Amino acid sequence: MDRGIGNLDALYREVILDHHRHPRNFGAVTNPTGFSEGYNPLCGDRIEISFRESDGKLMTECSFRGEGCSICMASASMMTEEVIGKSLPAVQEIIDGFRALLKGEECPLAVEGDLESLVGVRAFPVRIKCALLPWTTLHNALLAKKETP
Ligand code: ZN
Repeated sequence: MDRGIGNLDALYREVILDHHRHPRNFGAVTNPTGFSEGYNPLCGDRIEISFRESDGKLMTECSFRGEGCSICMASASMMTEEVIGKSLPAVQEIIDGFRALLKGEECPLAVEGDLESLVGVRAFPVRIKCALLPWTTLHNALLAKKETP
């Protein structure tokens, strides 16, 4: 059992462990238009996020790789599923909403499905950074994005 999530609700724990064992979109996007690396010194999580957009409109591909705890890896896996196919402004909204939610702030976003399982992490302040790392890294990748002609 990975440290830290033993106290989470059993159902949430299952979802997180499933994403950890079978990460979605694990790897690196070929010829990415956006890329960033993130590191969480508190836990030692390291992550790379790459994405590609089509016509500057839709995030068509988004992948991650790295090494980290189950919460960080599961969060990244869920995030890629959440953002692929969305417009870049919509992706930014999801990032902002999810970060607010985990920090216990007002969130205009309806968080459903697998992502909901991460909300329980709020009860464990040390783990919040683990869950947020992929999102912060994607945010940085969006900022560093190459402008498409
Ligand atoms: Zn971690």
